[in-house]
Amino acid sequence: MRIALGLGLAAAGLLLAAAAPQAGRALAGKDGEDWPSTGRTWADQRFSPLTQINVETVGKLGLAWHHEFDTDRGQEATPVEVDGVLYTTTAWSKVYAFDARTGRLLWSYDPEVDRARGFLACCDVVNRGVAVSGGKVYAAALDGRLTALDAGTGKVVWSAVTVDQGKSYTITGAPRVIHGKVLIGNGGSEYGVRGYVSAYDAETGKLAWRFYTTPSPSGKPDGAASDAALEKAARSTWGGAGVPEAGGGGTVWESITYDPGLNLVYFGTGNGSPWNARHRSDGKSDNLFLSSIVAVDPDTGKYAWHYQPTPDDTWDFDATQHLMLADLTIDGRPRKVVMQANKNGFFYVIDRATGALISAKGFVPMTWATGVDPKTGRPVEVPGARYETKVAVISPSPTGAHNWQPMAFDPRQGLVFIPAMESGLVFGDDPKFKYREGAVNFAFDPLLLALPDEKAQRAAIKASLKGELLAWDPVKQEARWSTPHEYYWNGGILATAGDLVFQGDAEGRFAAYDSRTGKQVWRYDAGMGVVAGASTYALDGQQYVALMVGYGGTGPLFQHWALPDRPRLPGRLLVFKLGGTDTLPAISRPPPRTIDLTGVHSAGDVDQGSLLFHQNCAICHSSNASGRYLPDLQTSSMITSDAAFRTVVLDGALASNGMVGFARFLTPAQAEAIRAYIIQESRRNQAMLAAQ
Ligand code: CA
Repeated sequence: MRIALGLGLAAAGLLLAAAAPQAGRALAGKDGEDWPSTGRTWADQRFSPLTQINVETVGKLGLAWHHEFDTDRGQEATPVEVDGVLYTTTAWSKVYAFDARTGRLLWSYDPEVDRARGFLACCDVVNRGVAVSGGKVYAAALDGRLTALDAGTGKVVWSAVTVDQGKSYTITGAPRVIHGKVLIGNGGSEYGVRGYVSAYDAETGKLAWRFYTTPSPSGKPDGAASDAALEKAARSTWGGAGVPEAGGGGTVWESITYDPGLNLVYFGTGNGSPWNARHRSDGKSDNLFLSSIVAVDPDTGKYAWHYQPTPDDTWDFDATQHLMLADLTIDGRPRKVVMQANKNGFFYVIDRATGALISAKGFVPMTWATGVDPKTGRPVEVPGARYETKVAVISPSPTGAHNWQPMAFDPRQGLVFIPAMESGLVFGDDPKFKYREGAVNFAFDPLLLALPDEKAQRAAIKASLKGELLAWDPVKQEARWSTPHEYYWNGGILATAGDLVFQGDAEGRFAAYDSRTGKQVWRYDAGMGVVAGASTYALDGQQYVALMVGYGGTGPLFQHWALPDRPRLPGRLLVFKLGGTDTLPAISRPPPRTIDLTGVHSAGDVDQGSLLFHQNCAICHSSNASGRYLPDLQTSSMITSDAAFRTVVLDGALASNGMVGFARFLTPAQAEAIRAYIIQESRRNQAMLAAQ
């Protein structure tokens, strides 16, 4: 089969670039032709040696087939291709298998996640993909289940509940199969949980080990692999009062990579809970293993090393971004490294055998630190950045200099391609903060999330948010080239030996760039925003590029006002090949929504409503209720009636859409204050639009 296929490829003129000796060789499967895991290999370089689609031929790239899904929420998965079948996941954790050549749907699986669970997903009800191994497809659901499906039929083989579903855990990340175990983390640090990564036996679904990222709040051991390491390395870093009862955060919600040579697994951990370090422990202690990169033994979960980019994080600087393994020559020495373009703005190159920092350099402008001390590996913080006594403008913002959107690495050129962002947020203490079980817990002045009333000031903030495709030399720690985007929140990256990098953007333009220069060489209008990264595979001598389309994630939910005003449309899977002639159905754009608020009145306190809105609602409905990616509150008929508003906001009438009732957090008078505030913002916004 392999020989026949090889001949077919040669006949079709499909060339595989000579395989460079690189870190984290391919998983099982035909090296270079399949895309067997979300990052293609365990090293997660997202680089393909396929060259049929290249700088010369890419002009002929056209749509081969497409599939439209049943959800308009964000699409973050990278499609995985094994043996002619393309697997992907959508929002609400649904799993799909297609004939990778034709797009024929082979099977789908819906875990039927309770939509009320959407309330707990800070950053959209997304899912970033599957793992495929040994005839099984592994996928995690938003409600914390990890399920093994038969790759041929989609039937459930086993399913395990990996979290306490009574707590604010969610899963959006893709599992990884390593050494016969399925590794999965979880999210929820914005709400108050204790982070961990679990390993399940791939055949039986039995829990093999669990590594907690913070010491047990009770002080009692959990019987987990991490106990000894936590006690030794981490317990003393939590100040006198220890770990908060709610767990302290540190969730492992995205990157997991593996080096089979060193037999080490690497994962990143999330922010502290609450964000503000002074309300978490004593504000003076490092709080291990929050915002850290941790290496463990994949067979036992035993701790190997850690590196903490942001000690005692107080800005939501998760260290969960893409961890990428590569073999680099630095100062004349071959080095096995793990690299990360961290949310905090520094690009880290770390010795992946020992955890020793090799170098760190800022890849975007930042205000919180001036550099990283090469001796200690600690950031050199700017005085006042911790907003102890007054507010501070912090760049990068919690959306980051780089978020979950995957990078890619071209080993031939030694270049990392980063979906980079410039962003900032005003931070200030919330002296009245009290932890609320199950709610968002920032300990940060919620009013600082509100936008200024002045249109010009809003425009200035918007202009400070920038997105770019950045080609970064990790040895020299400097930019090789950069291409700006119109908006700041864009898609992940794919790199190929055809001298190409692919990236989609906020406006739905899926483009290919010459990876040597950054020059755009091809573009396709996908019709709606892209946040996912693409993958590529070859079958019968034909190379394909696959991409999930559908705008989502924290950018559109939380900072909609800074992003294109696009209608909510069903997500799609687009697959391209040279000479492809498929076309997308026309996208009908609904007219802008308006609302007549004549005679509508609320006796609620607008100022109190603003505070409560930004404390409870803004994380999903955007600052000033300006959100469009969830139902637009400013033009919702719900705000014209106090009774209708209460039915939804307090009683949970729309819980089946993900909008749970807030009666446990808000009184009727407080709900009415929020309605008064939204009415004010709706009137203000309509006046601004009318004046244009
Ligand atoms: Ca976070």
